[in-house]
Formats: sequence, C-alpha cells, structure tokens
Amino acid sequence: MSLRIEVLSGLGEKAPAAILVEAGGRRLLLDAGGALHPGQSMAWAEGLDVDAVLISHDHFDHIGGVSALPAELPLYCTPSVAAALPSGREWRALPERGQCRIAGIPVTTGQAGHSLGGVWLHLGVDGGVFYSGDACFESLLFPFDEPPPARAVLLDASYGRYDTPQTQCREAIAQRLSEPRVLPVSVSGRALEMALWLDAEAGRLGVSWNLDHACRAGLEALLRLPRTLRREGHDAAIRRLLDASRTDSPLLWLVEDRDDDPQEWPEHRLLHTGYLTPRRQRQRAAGEVDWWRWNVHLRLAHMRALMRQLGAGQVIPLFTTEAREVSESLMVATLPALSEVGSDAAG
Ligand SMILES: [Zn+2]
Repeated sequence: MSLRIEVLSGLGEKAPAAILVEAGGRRLLLDAGGALHPGQSMAWAEGLDVDAVLISHDHFDHIGGVSALPAELPLYCTPSVAAALPSGREWRALPERGQCRIAGIPVTTGQAGHSLGGVWLHLGVDGGVFYSGDACFESLLFPFDEPPPARAVLLDASYGRYDTPQTQCREAIAQRLSEPRVLPVSVSGRALEMALWLDAEAGRLGVSWNLDHACRAGLEALLRLPRTLRREGHDAAIRRLLDASRTDSPLLWLVEDRDDDPQEWPEHRLLHTGYLTPRRQRQRAAGEVDWWRWNVHLRLAHMRALMRQLGAGQVIPLFTTEAREVSESLMVATLPALSEVGSDAAG
C-alpha cells in the first residue's frame, strides 16, 4: 500500500498540530490544531480535502482548528475530548484504548499519559505509522500504554533535547511555594496532577491553597472516567481533596489558564509551568512572571525508550526547533516532512 505523510503544521516550532496521512488513496488528518497565540498561521486548514479527521486530545493546539474545517467532515475523538469540540459539532467515538477502522484504515489507540481522554494514534499501514499526539511517561495520573510496532514515527518532541526528570521539576517548583502564587494550568492536563501534588506540598509546607471551579470540574471528570484510564491509588486522595473546605484567599491558587495577566493578580505572583506564548516570554524576561517547567511532554530519554519500543526506523520530531538534533540524539533517520514512504512509491 502506498503511504504518504505530510506535516501540514507543527514542524520546526511549537505550532498547531495538523498531519496528513494518505494510505491506499484514503486521506486522514491527524489533529486539527488552533493557533497558540495571535498571528500564528492557520494556513494548513485552507482547501483541505480529507476522508476523516482524528483528534488526539483536547488541547487547543490539537483541536482548536476544527472550526476551520467543513462541518460535514467525519471527526473521531474520545468522549471526554468531544466535550471540547465547537457546540453542535458531530463526532464519532474513538476508543480510549483499542482498535477500529477509519476510512478503511486500521487504527489502534492507547493512552498517551498527557491529558484527560488523550490518546496516541497508530495506523496499521505499511509497517505501522505512530503519532504520539502529546505524550508523557511521567504523569502521576495518566497512564501511557505501550503501542504496537511502527516503522514511521511522528513524535512529540516539544521539549527538544531537554531531559530533566519530573522529580527535579517538582522540587524546584516546591521551593517557590512559600509566597503568594497563582499557577495557571491546562484543566484537562497538568491541572489534575498538580492539584494532587499541591495538596500534599501545601500540607507539608503548612500553607493554604485552593483551586478554581474549572480545575475542580476537571478532577470530577477524571473520577467519572473508567478506572483503567487513570493510574491506580489516587482516587481516595482526589475525593478528599474535593471534599476539603478551603479559604477564598489562599496563599496558592491553581486556576484554569485564561491568558492571565500579572495585573489581574495584584496580591499574587504568576508561576507558569508550561508553554509560554511570546507575550509571556516578554513578561518573564521583564521579571513580571516566573516560569518553571512541570513535565507533560516526552523528554529525551523517554523519546529514546519509545523509539526502542516501537522498533522505529524513521522519525519526524514535531513541535520543536531542534528537530535535527533530536533525530541525531535518537540515532534514527529523519523522515522528511513530506514523505512518500510506501512500498510502491518511488525510491
Ligand atoms: Zn497537549
């Protein structure tokens, strides 16, 4: 079967995710990302002709471009991700962990360890094509399922060659929690595990903390998921955390990321832990906000382990300015962003 992969967006920088895979004449779009900040190009969506779109998870840079696609285009995602679709958008269920066929192409999914209901995607064509979506091995709550072998890999390399273990990240953030802080977080992702961790840390430090309604709702949604979709041993702690009474003026706030501005929090200092938009990078450079990473993507050692698991021969490192360096570090050939890799393709 001929196979053609084209990264429409997400190559060479942190940019909206949109990947076209054409196999045996059928065309699938993997993710339909929206712009991460004003001015980022959405040209990938113009005039697009595909048989179906598959969404890995509900973060805006993977789902925010759905509104730019024809409403009649068949769209597949897991039920919890569907909650983030534009109102009224029709969708079909993608298994949270399992197999199906989409436009005649065998699709396997598994938990990606990154977000509520988020999956990786594996296409059973031409030795296997694996797309990690956003993935992480270090989540306290979200499991990562081992995928089937794949010859070609589209890899979440958001962190480039960065390789700091999450335990060190947590220690560094913990040292910054003794003064009034607001931590804006993605509700379906790091919010949930940070809530769990913050509860323990605040207790250890003897300081007050609270979470906003959106973060609370995210934890409640997590508890409604089938048990096998979250790591074991945390349910009781999450319930205790949700039942506890809390002050409305805590030292530490965990809040849904709404592009918060330092002026909105005069009593607190913003501590970001994820992707910084150019505006936030300027705020950080001016000393107005702080940033310390909480790992939610694959670091280098884990990219290496995943490539070994997959037995992959070729990789396209995505969402990074260090694609070439990552490929070299993984000692795997780089697949060009537009690739004809099928058995009946030239070369
Ligand atoms: Zn994500």
